[in-house]
Amino acid sequence: MFCVECGKETPIFRNGVCLSCYLKTNSFTKGPEIIDLPVCTHCNSYKYKSTWTSELFGDIMGRIIKNTFTISRELKKIDINITSKEEKDGMMCNVFITGFLDDVEITEDHDLLVRLKRTVCDVCSKRFGGYHEAIIQIRGDRRNLSKKELDNILLSVESLVENIQAKGNRALFITDVGEEHGGLDFYISDKGSALVITKKIQEQYGGTIKQSSKDMGMKDSRQIHRMTYLLRLPSFSKGDFISYKDSYYYISSISGSKIHIIDLSNWNEQTLDAKEIQKAKILGGEEITTEMILVSQTKEEVQVMNPNTYEIKIIRKIKPVSFDSEKIKVVKMDDQLFLPPKKHNR
Ligand SMILES: [Zn+2]
Ligand SMILES: [Zn+2]
Repeated sequence: MFCVECGKETPIFRNGVCLSCYLKTNSFTKGPEIIDLPVCTHCNSYKYKSTWTSELFGDIMGRIIKNTFTISRELKKIDINITSKEEKDGMMCNVFITGFLDDVEITEDHDLLVRLKRTVCDVCSKRFGGYHEAIIQIRGDRRNLSKKELDNILLSVESLVENIQAKGNRALFITDVGEEHGGLDFYISDKGSALVITKKIQEQYGGTIKQSSKDMGMKDSRQIHRMTYLLRLPSFSKGDFISYKDSYYYISSISGSKIHIIDLSNWNEQTLDAKEIQKAKILGGEEITTEMILVSQTKEEVQVMNPNTYEIKIIRKIKPVSFDSEKIKVVKMDDQLFLPPKKHNR
């Protein structure tokens, strides 16, 4: 057959013309050349249909194109692809819309300028206004938290916040953090998440939680309460050495109200509850260990030298472990020397 347009001998697509002639006079997709997209200058969220979202530019554009472009029903199995380039006026995009016309795949492309309107999103404006629904207070029981504990708790809270944000909670943020009374105060925008975070920290570090609320007056005819979650950490912490019922132990981990300890005379593990451990005497943590030079070792014992006094000591090995480092940590409690459990000897 001959195409009535171009006269070539070629398969006829529709109305007596070939496919390439048909596509010259028909288009299947149509859309705007310019759109405005509000973007937050602080967190890069985009606003679409009065909702702020932390979606990526490509993802939000996919939604916008589906909603603003007219795509002929004749076109099946639609696929949208976008490339974009940053320009002075905004993002210059190339929108490729691919689909099937009968069984022929066609692609149409459009230039689209996305003008980014720089503004501040709902969440960031709250954040800069110091908004917070809850305060998480972390304190030690009759003690100040160590520098290491403060650093670890700060990292834990920050990563918990990031995890919850990553699950799509844009309303959660830390407004402020302060070191107070030997502990930490976290000002948190979302009280539900604040309680979840406090419980997770308790699982990791032990301690007890006390809740209180403060009346903040009415807002939108609803009573507003600001919550305080006080987590009081126990007087001991992971890595401490204790004496309990005439034996010496090492605290290997804490999970909620369960304290896992290792008997230094046989390296057997035991679990105490928070109440029972009150009877123990805390001798100290890392600071009561000494790094000794490993002189020699046999199956049964190690010979170590104190690097300051050159004094040599022999310590019985609890289990047939071998040390391959030049120095090992030793702990002295009531004039007795112990090897901390091997996996904890770093
Ligand atoms: Zn033709
Ligand atoms: Zn923002």
